[in-house]
Amino acid sequence: MTVPLFDTATPLAGLRETILARIAEVVERGQFVLGPEVRAFEAELAAYLGAAYAVGVANGTDALTIAARALGVKAGDDVVVPSFTFYATAEAMASLGARPVFCDVDPQTRNITAETVRAALTPRTTAVVAVDLFGLPAPVSEIRQLGVPVIEDAAQAIGAWQGDRRAGTLGDVATFSFYPSKNLGAFGDGGAVVTDDAEIAERVSALRFHGSRDKQTFEMVGYNSRLDELQAAILRVLLPELDGWCDGRRAAADAYREAGLAEYVSLPQPPEGARPAWHLYVVTHPEPDRLLGALREAGVQARSYYRTPLHRQQAMLEFAPADLELPATEWLAATNLALPISPVLGQAQAAEVVAAIAAA
Ligand SMILES: *Cc1c(COP(=O)(O)O)cnc(C)c1O
Repeated sequence: MTVPLFDTATPLAGLRETILARIAEVVERGQFVLGPEVRAFEAELAAYLGAAYAVGVANGTDALTIAARALGVKAGDDVVVPSFTFYATAEAMASLGARPVFCDVDPQTRNITAETVRAALTPRTTAVVAVDLFGLPAPVSEIRQLGVPVIEDAAQAIGAWQGDRRAGTLGDVATFSFYPSKNLGAFGDGGAVVTDDAEIAERVSALRFHGSRDKQTFEMVGYNSRLDELQAAILRVLLPELDGWCDGRRAAADAYREAGLAEYVSLPQPPEGARPAWHLYVVTHPEPDRLLGALREAGVQARSYYRTPLHRQQAMLEFAPADLELPATEWLAATNLALPISPVLGQAQAAEVVAAIAAA
């Protein structure tokens, strides 16, 4: 492969010594769960985002489950979710006994909108999960005006801006994943819940430790879901690099445009006033498989995402009426392909990808 889909290794190369030193410190200290590294990372993440509270959890899926619980979502509730997203977005709601109600997305931004959410609201809707898909912020303020609390699934959008606010500060509560391939990736699993609401933050802190505030008395049935000290120590080294990496991703997206990519495929359209984090650079074409084949031949790694949207996944069929039609979702599922993107994808590589597509 001359151009990989992700390049997580190159940006880390210069940080190797620092990361190893921080890992050694944690090992020497001998405190591996809920210690000083997690506390410091939570404070640094909240400050980076401009949010009041950040609480570390074990992964981005638990972050969604726990955020929804803290917001009051319970068994029997309806929660509006996109169908064109990673499975965990809906799975986390179903794991609470809530019913995921699938809504469509905007074909240009690939995100849910106030209109698509409105069409899916029921008298039992208690929350909406707005995913900032591929690193493009969802129109959370408009959706909030519908009067239902919004959980912002910002797993793919850390480092993105909408106007003067960071992705992850747009809803009532937001969730992040630090899975290794995400824009801020740990060396294993990790996640966080972020909010400005002190009560939600308190409940999240209790829920991640078995529903207990003092580790002696148990007020709720909770979870064992902590970010661990080693991951927090590593994330503290990476967080100060994140804005630079996002600039690199935006430069890569610019390089694709400058290399003439729009002549051959439809480009993603960020919403007005957004600075995307470009977790993935996803274009559309009527024949994605033919392009994928040609790219593979040329040594370029690419793939389609979410080919089977969630409302057609076996585990979700009980929640999705058989006649549910989500035309933009179906169209995106059938036509999308993700091209390589990373903080270090330069003009030469972008030109190579565009040349391979042009030849096909
Ligand atoms: C990655 C991801 C998650 C889940 O995160 P994990 O840390 O893998 O549990 C949830 N939602 C979206 C949109 C994601 O991309």
